[in-house]
Amino acid sequence: MRTLIFYRRVLSTLIFVCIASITASATQPIDNKRVNIVFRYDDYSATSPTDMELRIIDSFGKHEASITFGVIPFRCVRDAHDPSPQDIVPLTSIKANILKNGFKDGILDIALHGYSHQTISAKQMTQFSGLAYNAQVERLAKGKNFLEGIINAPFTTFVPPWNKYDLNTLRALEELGFSTLSAGMDGVATENSNLIFLPATCHLSRLRDAVKAARTSSDTQPVIVVLFHAYDFKEIDEKRGSITYQEFSDLLNWLKSQDDVCLLSISQAAKVINNLSASRFLLNKRNRALSRLLPSSLRDEESITIYQEYRGYPVSPKIFLKVGGFYLLIVISVTVLFLIMGIFCFRDLCVL
Ligand SMILES: [Zn+2]
Repeated sequence: MRTLIFYRRVLSTLIFVCIASITASATQPIDNKRVNIVFRYDDYSATSPTDMELRIIDSFGKHEASITFGVIPFRCVRDAHDPSPQDIVPLTSIKANILKNGFKDGILDIALHGYSHQTISAKQMTQFSGLAYNAQVERLAKGKNFLEGIINAPFTTFVPPWNKYDLNTLRALEELGFSTLSAGMDGVATENSNLIFLPATCHLSRLRDAVKAARTSSDTQPVIVVLFHAYDFKEIDEKRGSITYQEFSDLLNWLKSQDDVCLLSISQAAKVINNLSASRFLLNKRNRALSRLLPSSLRDEESITIYQEYRGYPVSPKIFLKVGGFYLLIVISVTVLFLIMGIFCFRDLCVL
């Protein structure tokens, strides 16, 4: 009987610890922190919507802020998702002048966004991942030289189409003098890479929430990289779009009115933010993998920041406790269920 009481007490204590860890309070905000927001606009090319792009440049110019444009130097003329041979069209003189002037005025930061942005595979959308090393070097070099000729200055950021790249891409980038890669959070990296990794973490529609969540995190220098395209605007694509230009403009006004928010381009972020190395990228991948173990109903502000922020530190012990507590609770519940079933079965056998 005493043994039974002892086990009951142990079980109660374990359940209490689990519940306490799952409902642990949110992280307290830190004073004097700055939320860094990097804007990345992809797919600027000969065929992209010029009027909307001029309005975007105008918005950033008005706020004396800089934005990174992922530029396609030689756009394929038909569907980018079709890997069959097709013609390419270089940036027109109008588009080249916009780029040149935006760069000269300090509004535009230039990144190479592939070569023609045409997929090499019908199964997986990619222009670089899976391509031979030499072919990658050739495409990167041609694209980089072409754009540097337009802006008459070097640049060092690469943005792969569909955010897809492989280890050969990383080698090719270092070989050609690129210093920064901005893709997504699902990419590969090696600890010994010399590149700066600044992946996209957030869409326009989630940015306000991401800023609020970043304020509660224990990161003193949180980074949010916002990726958007022309089709995100309802004026360009009514079905796919999630924001009007006016709402975008209001969003920028709101960000600029926040004392703790700093708008940066990728190149500016690479200079002023500490430790954007491969180790930070790999750390964020581990953080996300851990957070995915939690059901969405148990995710708090910190769990949100893991998805929408490029963190410079590991998750708090609270997340480990939550994950551990959640799965321990499941194990205990299943054990108790089997015990109860066993007791009932055993009692029926005794009766027989
Ligand atoms: Zn793209």
